[in-house]
Amino acid sequence: MIQRDVCIVGAGPAGLTTALFLAKNGIKSTVVEKATFPRDKICGDAFSGKVSWVLRKLDLDFEAEIHKEKFQLASWGVKFFGTKNNELKVPFKLNYDAQTDKAPGFIASRLDFDNYLFEKAKANDLIEIIENTNLTNFARNKNGVLASTKDNSFQIESKIIVGANGAYSKLAKELLGLEVKDDSNSLGLRTYYKNVKNLDQEGYIELHFLEDLLPGYFWIFPMKNGMANVGAGIRTDLMRKNKINLKKAFQKILDSHPEISKRFEGAELVDDIKLFGLPLGSQKRKLSSDNVILLGDAAALIDPFTGEGIGNAMISGMLAAENIEICIKENDFSESKLISYDEKIYKRLGKELQLSKQMQELSRFPWLFNFVVNKARKNKELQEVISCMFESVDVRKKLSNPMFYLRILFS
Ligand SMILES: Cc1cc2nc3c(=O)[nH]c(=O)nc-3n(C[C@H](O)[C@H](O)[C@H](O)COP(=O)(O)OP(=O)(O)OC[C@H]3O[C@@H](n4cnc5c(N)ncnc54)[C@H](O)[C@@H]3O)c2cc1C
Repeated sequence: MIQRDVCIVGAGPAGLTTALFLAKNGIKSTVVEKATFPRDKICGDAFSGKVSWVLRKLDLDFEAEIHKEKFQLASWGVKFFGTKNNELKVPFKLNYDAQTDKAPGFIASRLDFDNYLFEKAKANDLIEIIENTNLTNFARNKNGVLASTKDNSFQIESKIIVGANGAYSKLAKELLGLEVKDDSNSLGLRTYYKNVKNLDQEGYIELHFLEDLLPGYFWIFPMKNGMANVGAGIRTDLMRKNKINLKKAFQKILDSHPEISKRFEGAELVDDIKLFGLPLGSQKRKLSSDNVILLGDAAALIDPFTGEGIGNAMISGMLAAENIEICIKENDFSESKLISYDEKIYKRLGKELQLSKQMQELSRFPWLFNFVVNKARKNKELQEVISCMFESVDVRKKLSNPMFYLRILFS
């Protein structure tokens, strides 16, 4: 058995961000990861401005480096398609110059991005990484938490265990009782294609809101070298209620959607079709207790409307590191010390998660969705409001208020 102060379970964006922020403040940690890097993670591969913001906080060079990496494609905005294929093109930033400005978002395979963070962590003397180790048993004891593999061949005891092991986290369930119900969960499907027609030249990601999937969507995200990340997501309760088979629904879109199918003529599938869960931050949950703290997907922090989770995972990693530092200084890993992590998370993300939940509910109505898309196509002010929604919580508040739609109805 090994004994450490801090054991981080999972080397995804949440876990690695925690380790890197701790190291920045001179604190050692041990990251235990079940895979061997580089490893894939089923994802849409779209990184928002939030990710760049955390990278900048971590190290100014990291952000600059990522934006120069050959594996990423700059992304300047999003195209929404209503159920009638009505398109609304929304830049992430108003009046940008793609030649001279820095793009707010980027698209990169998780294989590459996660490996970039992994290499940064590996090169850091304060971070110990143990790969190929699947921790499955977790038990509190007088010293903290004892975690081990199924056959007990590896055991680690730590004063604090950081649950950064993503969706379906056994650690979160066993040590904190965290459960994600079907109405707070989505199922996502992802694959990669080559030679999809009409990919956006400025890396605009495409969200197609199709009736069968609402409030989820079908997506096409352009990538480097003519590749595209293509997928679909649907809320688990609605999938069950409407007896939808996501793989079949996805194939049907590719084969017979009047517009989308034309763009896939001659396109080449370059990966298997894979499915994975998205635990949504649709409700407030308990994220810490004695000797335990949860992050990212293990804490169910994915944006319920957009499905974005990488940025929130990294923010939770950053905030967790702040709290762990205090615990170490005071040698107190009790719930009373860790509770301020929950408070910080909900202060930083609570309002936007709540508003996204409301927007998710509104987008279940195709007529309302199409109405907003059609109005915004003609209304510059509304376009600007939607554009700012990616950066400003107050703007989301506007968009989630039914009175706002009444007002634009008469505009
Ligand atoms: C289909 C799909 C599309 C998505 N698209 C986007 C998108 O475009 N943009 C976006 O921002 N978000 C997207 N998300 C969400 C995003 O992928 C997650 O929010 C993000 O990966 C969360 O990071 P994390 O570090 O919490 O968890 P993860 O990235 O899942 O990392 C967890 C790590 O823990 C390891 N692990 C798991 N169990 C154990 C164990 N028992 N012992 C040791 N190690 C373990 C795993 O191998 C993994 O490396 C998507 C999700 C899905 C499913």
